[in-house]
Amino acid sequence: MLLAALDLDGTLVDQAAAAREWTVEFVSRWDLPRDAAAGVAPMLTARGPKDAAFDRLVETWSLPVSGPDLLSAYRRRMPQLVHCTNADKDALRRLRAAGWRIGVVTNGSVENQLGKIRATGLSDLVDGWVISEQAGVRKPDPVIFEMLAECVGSSLEGWMLGDSLDHDVAGGAAAGLSTAWITSAPVADARPAAGAPAPGASAPTITAPTVADAVTRILACAGEPEYR
Ligand SMILES: [Mg+2]
Repeated sequence: MLLAALDLDGTLVDQAAAAREWTVEFVSRWDLPRDAAAGVAPMLTARGPKDAAFDRLVETWSLPVSGPDLLSAYRRRMPQLVHCTNADKDALRRLRAAGWRIGVVTNGSVENQLGKIRATGLSDLVDGWVISEQAGVRKPDPVIFEMLAECVGSSLEGWMLGDSLDHDVAGGAAAGLSTAWITSAPVADARPAAGAPAPGASAPTITAPTVADAVTRILACAGEPEYR
């Protein structure tokens, strides 16, 4: 069975938009100056461990909470703020109807990522997921893709769809998958302005604005040997 592996943040869910929404709530909750928001959102969506970012938030605004407590509140709230489009959900149903196994592979904490997978209804539309905190390995390490294939009961043959050239495209390709670079979902990391991979970056098999668009093209070319 073919595998459709999908990234979560910036691919299936609008993580950056949710982070902006959380920021509005945060600024209001602590009665911070309006311009505080401009510095908060980039800290939330930067890659890597969030502990330091939340310690810095507490310190910067002299908040009467600890960094870990604020981070914990953020992780409880974020799953309620992210969304997955109906078009992308329909695309997952089309993949499933075509006999594919579908899995989410994401770097992050179990509490936060699993909360998002469940709150958006993605848990009903995919066959499994691998979250780096639990797996003990992160994208782009090919091992995490092997774990996903095993988790959903497929061979490591198919496609990886994601918004990160470094984690999703390079990682998926290293694991032997064809790759779709998803370019229109809001993302934290900067993308090349022209919408093309920077020189030296991994080249995706296809580039598509959304998961739904990528799936349409993948299903159309699934029978062609060069994409298998
Ligand atoms: Mg992503």
